[in-house]
Amino acid sequence: MRLAKYLAHAGVASRRASELIIADGRVTVNGKVVTDPARDVHDELTVKVDGKRVKTSSQTLVVYLVNKPAGYVSTAKDPQDRQTVVSLVPSSQRLYPVGRLDFDTTGLILLTNDGDLAHKLTHPSFEVPRTYRARVANAPVNEPALKALRDGVLLEDGMTAPAKVRNVSSGVVELTIHEGRKRQVKRMLEAVGHRVYTLERVAFGPLRIGSLQPGEFRKLGQPEVERLR
Ligand code: URA
Repeated sequence: MRLAKYLAHAGVASRRASELIIADGRVTVNGKVVTDPARDVHDELTVKVDGKRVKTSSQTLVVYLVNKPAGYVSTAKDPQDRQTVVSLVPSSQRLYPVGRLDFDTTGLILLTNDGDLAHKLTHPSFEVPRTYRARVANAPVNEPALKALRDGVLLEDGMTAPAKVRNVSSGVVELTIHEGRKRQVKRMLEAVGHRVYTLERVAFGPLRIGSLQPGEFRKLGQPEVERLR
């Protein structure tokens, strides 16, 4: 878009006032002074006014907490054209899910346009705890099975790290893990003889799903985002 329009979009000044600011030589694009208000710019360029970076709304970093309903994929696009969790949040920003939940899993998933944050939250070395509630077959999960889950169980891709596990009610067990292997919770519970009927993620790092209903979302406030960083 035209430089003057870009500045107006970024809230620097009105379009007309932005043209004057540009004509005054106060604006740089990738370090070079630009005095032509019609100069074409886009989000990949660094635009500064009086040495201070200006960003349009699509460059502002945001994080949304979504309660993913069952029957949605947690990828940005789906080759089979199924509904995506990204479609639940009307936003002009290009959002991506942080990690994955299975198609039939419900609960807390984050969407963001902050690639660095998404990388940090999903990289195994950061060990972000994730808490799941599973409704299981053959309930209740007995003490030896709980102990096995806590100590680590052998899956086809290796032993799982120690987990926190407790029975919430006779058919529901809560697990906190900090790994993000494919279908991990379902496979852990299957390994100790309990098929999973439903699975919900109720917490991710310091965040909880709270009273958010499936399909609902909320934008995280800056202090919450800082706690994730
Ligand atoms: N573990 C699973 O088995 N499924 C999920 O969606 C998330 C964790």
